[in-house]
Amino acid sequence: MSKDLFSLPRLELAKLPTPLERVERLGHALGDIDLWFKRDDLTGFGLGGNKVRSLEYLAADAIRINSNILVTGGSPGSNHVRTTMAVAAHLGLKGVAVLSGTLPSETQGNLLLNKLLQAKLVFTGDPERIYLDSYIGDEVERLRALGEKPYMIKRGGVSSLGCVGYVTAAVEICSQLQDLNINPDLLLCATGCGVTQAGLLVGFKLMELNCQLYGVTVSRSRDECIAHIKQLAKETEETLGLDSRVTSDDILVFDEYIGEGYSVPTLEGIEAIRLVARTEGIFLDPIYTGKAMAGLTDLVKKRHIGPDKTVIFLHTGGSPSIFSNSSVISDSNNSTDSIIEKDTSSNVNLKSSQNI
Ligand SMILES: *Cc1c(COP(=O)(O)O)cnc(C)c1O
Repeated sequence: MSKDLFSLPRLELAKLPTPLERVERLGHALGDIDLWFKRDDLTGFGLGGNKVRSLEYLAADAIRINSNILVTGGSPGSNHVRTTMAVAAHLGLKGVAVLSGTLPSETQGNLLLNKLLQAKLVFTGDPERIYLDSYIGDEVERLRALGEKPYMIKRGGVSSLGCVGYVTAAVEICSQLQDLNINPDLLLCATGCGVTQAGLLVGFKLMELNCQLYGVTVSRSRDECIAHIKQLAKETEETLGLDSRVTSDDILVFDEYIGEGYSVPTLEGIEAIRLVARTEGIFLDPIYTGKAMAGLTDLVKKRHIGPDKTVIFLHTGGSPSIFSNSSVISDSNNSTDSIIEKDTSSNVNLKSSQNI
């Protein structure tokens, strides 16, 4: 375990810095914006994603107090749960995942990965995610009564320590911007529980970086997000001993791209996944980053983001959800896949190419 720049205990789980790279073809396809990807899908632990950064601090805290079990929760397809269970396995701790609803009929994506990790899965039987923290708390109490030392991590890793992961990410981004000599007008990310957006906001203020932060919410309404992120930012500033500087005006949230609800893919989101795949060979996911990219596409189309702008898109990961939503993604595919016709001449071609 090492200490970080704020002297907080931190485990080195992520491979940092993650790349900050220009995506020229995609920027051109969206309407000639100067577009960059910050590749936090490549944090390099347990299939990557943004949750690894938070877990560097949360798991260090668990080790500090001698816990032997990491307990968290989320939906059966949660990236946060998969990453936490991978961290537990890596540290030789037990992992308990409290999942909303009942066992899905298909074991795919993150659920499949949790099985490989031999995490203990506890289904609440209740499809509502808002009560998950109380179910996680119940499980923690039950384990404690059995003499175990469980460490509770709330749904989404929500906590000021979790946010610190993105304060340090902001410091990392600033240093990359200096090296690359670019001045982005805005950074856009998907917002779920708001840990990422709150941490980045605190970090941008700390570094006095003049770059707007756009959060495209995938679940809560704009007002709910703003109140929640404001509170998280305040707690994070307190944890780091910083003056409270993030105000409501800094918290920009767009709630037009949720569609039917959390974890329900939208057509625009799937179209965005397809566009990024075919222009850059990079995979977004249907629950978070696809919807965030649908938001960016629309904001550029509406000229809310003009063609002269330099934009960073934070790729927060989530690729396992491609596989747990494979039917809806492939069903909405309107391009005609061509099948090579069976042709007797192909044998001849094959033979001749082998002769070369
Ligand atoms: C959790 C998650 C987000 C949202 O991050 P928050 O900090 O909860 O707002 C975005 N993208 C992916 C892929 C995620 O797993």
